[in-house]
Amino acid sequence: MTTVKDRPKPVLLPELCKGCGRCIEACPKHCITLGEEINQTSGLVPVVIDYDVCNGCGLCISACPEPYGLTTDGYELEDPAKLFGAAAHHGRSPAAVEGRTLPLPKCEPLVLKGNYAAAVGALLAGCRHVFGYPITPSTEGAELMAKFLPKLDGVFMQAVSEVATVNHMYGCGGAGLPCMTFTSSPGLSLMLEGISYMIGAEVPAVFVNVMRGGPGLGNIGPSQADIKLLCRGLGHGNTHAIVLAPSTPQEMLDLTMEAFRLAFKYRNPVFVAPDGYLGQMTGRVQLPEEMIVPGVPSWAVFGDEVHRGNLINSIYLAETDLHAHNEKLQEKYALITANEQRATTYRAEDAKVLVVAASTPARMAKSAIEHLRQEGHKVGLFSPVTLWPFPIDALRAQLDHVEDIVVVEASAGQLEDELRLALSHAGLAGVRIHNLRRMGGLLPQEPEIRERIHAIIAEAA
Ligand code: SF4
Ligand code: SF4
Repeated sequence: MTTVKDRPKPVLLPELCKGCGRCIEACPKHCITLGEEINQTSGLVPVVIDYDVCNGCGLCISACPEPYGLTTDGYELEDPAKLFGAAAHHGRSPAAVEGRTLPLPKCEPLVLKGNYAAAVGALLAGCRHVFGYPITPSTEGAELMAKFLPKLDGVFMQAVSEVATVNHMYGCGGAGLPCMTFTSSPGLSLMLEGISYMIGAEVPAVFVNVMRGGPGLGNIGPSQADIKLLCRGLGHGNTHAIVLAPSTPQEMLDLTMEAFRLAFKYRNPVFVAPDGYLGQMTGRVQLPEEMIVPGVPSWAVFGDEVHRGNLINSIYLAETDLHAHNEKLQEKYALITANEQRATTYRAEDAKVLVVAASTPARMAKSAIEHLRQEGHKVGLFSPVTLWPFPIDALRAQLDHVEDIVVVEASAGQLEDELRLALSHAGLAGVRIHNLRRMGGLLPQEPEIRERIHAIIAEAA
């Protein structure tokens, strides 16, 4: 007859314990307590079991969500590492499952507002997991996803807050699944801690941040006042992420698709940053010729046997390890800066005055440039598509004929600061820099851009 004494007692594998505490709640003998020491392999704090009190009832084993966290395999485990790390693959290393493309049937162009176009772009990039908290002027994107995703075997989760949203994304992106959110400026502010963790842990995800007027809750008018936050302030530590600035509903779709590709290529969050007007603006949108069926990256914590040894983590307790991790991230940023600068130009080939503007202000500037060209003025547009990295290489190519730059933006000089920093790092000088700024939910208008350029031309004459 089996007695209480004979019952096998649970074996805790500290490397696999998340410290979630479910076993503590389940134990009727109160013999499990929260630990105090960080496990050097997992970076987490495992629980501690008092075996003198334990009666082997096994309730803790049933409560533990970790398949190998608590087992009945005997008191002593010869080599816990056998259940962790490379050995956990039972001789098989995780291999990436490659994504593939599917041809899309040809169709007539759609007429979509920018937020919807970004949502369609995400779906065509293979995103089936969207987390979000509604905030004007980005809400239509989440609204469309909430309608479509249940029909596509996907998940839309309205989180309790932006803080929860970004942490759902951390988990989903860590599993190697394409995921995204739609948010707007005050919402982005709330997500910064999680974004910093995601950058540190190299977790891919796409954030569509439809910028509105601030600071604080501000208003729901269009703005570009998050450029500094996106380019220079994505949480603590030495963080960076690619920031894409669409100018049309078509680019909302194209650049959102591209954002997923870049996020997985570099294992990093990517931001699509239109002003609020662009999120609401309706335009002609042509669907691409193919859509993406995502694979599973080898690094993903995917939950199956071969990926069991993977760990997504931003904790590096030894200073030398964290230094080395930072150096690795800096190398990645340098690679992105070298490879991913993008810009468009309009009538810039012989321009003496070059407007630098992104998103809706670039559209306004284009119209002003058309008028000014008809008057015989040599004016052109340089529009950064990547706000970070700033496309300095393409700008450098214009500077042999440009005498004056005028930065037109809906912020207090945040785009201009990126421009000045890029010029300074590149050792470029000699061009006069002017600006036209609107804030608080206002965009620069075409007549005032013309007026400003007329004044600059008169001053230079
Ligand atoms: S086996 Fe039972 S008594 Fe022992 S630690 Fe688990 S829950 Fe507590
Ligand atoms: S339930 Fe499992 S993972 Fe959670 S604290 Fe207990 S042993 Fe650790």
